[in-house]
Amino acid sequence: MTGIVYKSTGSWYLVKTLNGKFYECRIKGKFRLKGIKSTNPIAVGDRVEFDLETKNNTETGVIKRIEERKNYIIRKSVKLSKQTHIIAANIDQVFLLITLNNPPTFTSFIDRFLVTAEAYSVDTVLLFNKIDLYSEEDLLEIKYLQNVYHKIGYPTIEISAATGKNIDKVKSLMEGKVNMFAGHSGVGKSTLVNAIEPSLDLKTKEISEQHLQGQHTTTFAEMFDLSFDAKIIDTPGIKGFGVVDMEKEEVGDYFPEFFKLKQDCKFNNCLHIKEPKCAVKEALDNDEVSYSRYRSYLQILEGEEENYRTDNWDT
Ligand code: GDP
Ligand code: ZN
Repeated sequence: MTGIVYKSTGSWYLVKTLNGKFYECRIKGKFRLKGIKSTNPIAVGDRVEFDLETKNNTETGVIKRIEERKNYIIRKSVKLSKQTHIIAANIDQVFLLITLNNPPTFTSFIDRFLVTAEAYSVDTVLLFNKIDLYSEEDLLEIKYLQNVYHKIGYPTIEISAATGKNIDKVKSLMEGKVNMFAGHSGVGKSTLVNAIEPSLDLKTKEISEQHLQGQHTTTFAEMFDLSFDAKIIDTPGIKGFGVVDMEKEEVGDYFPEFFKLKQDCKFNNCLHIKEPKCAVKEALDNDEVSYSRYRSYLQILEGEEENYRTDNWDT
């Protein structure tokens, strides 16, 4: 039998088959995946193959194979520095909720998020929420930001989870896909999910941040089918994607507009900092590359070494 993992507790996995039946499954013996050292070999979103066993009149499954993943997101364990925890696999799309104020979402956060999503090969849609709240001036700022990100290939939508504005557009983008929602605490994730599917009571509410920082809490993600053809992966206590280890040379490849220009840089290992005949710097001078994007790029380059040492999941 084959199915998709909807819930993972570390020892049991809830798997849904194509005909809609749920089975509790487990892993027998040693089941390790090549190349990934993680505390959990199987995660929500994984497609698995399993055999049925009947014990005491109940049918349970034994997972024997896991399909190759399209992508997966991880959390690094602080204590077991070499170990990672796989949060979810096979994610089609993440919606990043952004608010200008209450709380503010800075471009440095947006850009770091996008770099990580690119590194994980997860598509991102930017949702500018609380559009009902803003002043004329704020709305101009939102238009400006939408233009910055739209120009480099990210879909952007102005929404109001409170009034329902453009929720239909969000829903149609979700169709046929496995979706996630991310963004700072207070940007409106729970309100949005509620507007999309009122009957779904997700745990998107953050576990107190102190608690998260103070000790390693393992939070288990869960997948939900919506009333229209879409799935949501809920990851309690998680706002962002965390940090992926990357080499300095790689960072620019995850800025799509830099990546396109890179072939025109004089040096093929150009970091776009002080090198002569750098196409990215030239585009920056001509206002073809956004200054805020470039500033975020430099910040990420500077921060990279630090990120190797700390677990910055929630920043
Ligand atoms: P979360 O922490 O990201 O899940 O954010 P919540 O959904 O809990 O929302 C935080 C606060 O913002 C709540 O008081 C919501 O009522 C409010 N809120 C969420 N979306 C909107 C919106 O579109 N407009 C307005 N005015 N308030 C909103
Ligand atoms: Zn360059």
